[in-house]
Amino acid sequence: MSGRAYVGRFAPSPTGPLHAGSLVAALASWLDARAHGGRWLVRIEDVDTPRCVPGAAERILAQLQACALLPDETPVRQTSRGAAYQAALDGLLNAGLAYPCACSRQDIARAQAARGIVHRRHAALPYPGTCRDGLQGRTARAWRLRTDRAAAPLRWTDRAAGPQSQDVEQEVGDFVLRRADGLWAYQLAVVVDDAWQGVSDVVRGQDLLDNTARQILLQQALGVPTPRYLHTPLVLAPDGEKLSKQNGAEAFDESRPGEALSAAARLLGLPLPQSGRGPAELLAGWVEPWRAAWIAPSTIQG
Ligand code: GLU
Repeated sequence: MSGRAYVGRFAPSPTGPLHAGSLVAALASWLDARAHGGRWLVRIEDVDTPRCVPGAAERILAQLQACALLPDETPVRQTSRGAAYQAALDGLLNAGLAYPCACSRQDIARAQAARGIVHRRHAALPYPGTCRDGLQGRTARAWRLRTDRAAAPLRWTDRAAGPQSQDVEQEVGDFVLRRADGLWAYQLAVVVDDAWQGVSDVVRGQDLLDNTARQILLQQALGVPTPRYLHTPLVLAPDGEKLSKQNGAEAFDESRPGEALSAAARLLGLPLPQSGRGPAELLAGWVEPWRAAWIAPSTIQG
């Protein structure tokens, strides 16, 4: 961790209350922060305003509080951070690392077809780079990062999933930093805020694993440190699909925080508690087992 003070975070999007899967991520990031003697932050990732549900952020904070998962600072909302995202984008534009893009989805599909790129089922197609060399008189809709300015493939090691590698240019293409609807893209907001908040360790669900290479590329372009990453196992719905609001993942019952926390701990392979303990006591009891499972002795601070 190169001597940086440990700062962890849980970064929910307020598109609904927390469900069992999101509680696993919250618990894992809290335990990792406590086991390192570090700080733990909560960030409300509300940049995608059309997907945000009124009252969801308050409900999420109440659910965390019921589980004794208390942040060390007042939670930040990304909707208050537009000026910082704009400054980051301006810096990338000035450095020639980002560019405006005029392409609609149809334009992109046409350009891909012209290059013989065949649509792969379930896979997003890489952006073909049409606007890299200028807008040719068209109007900017979105802004993208140049992914051809770093050595490929990008390699990194996840604390749980092990060595990873992705050729972002080939597999994803120049990705969007500011969307055509004017909203900031998750990738830019998450990287700018992790850097601003001094986040040293990202602990989150495995569904976000394939975003990490893009985020590391963006960190390198912005000249900010790369945190360590640990992606926890996914919690699947009974049909084997990822839990989400769409397939009926329900809010966990915060009137029974001990049960919800125990279910999350079980999924993380932590020992089950004796019954009758309160949430704070349960959490305290999992710090040592977490340390033993996930933290090499050399990385434990003070
Ligand atoms: N806001 C993202 C989500 O709820 C998580 C972002 C992150 O942990 O990097 O899926």
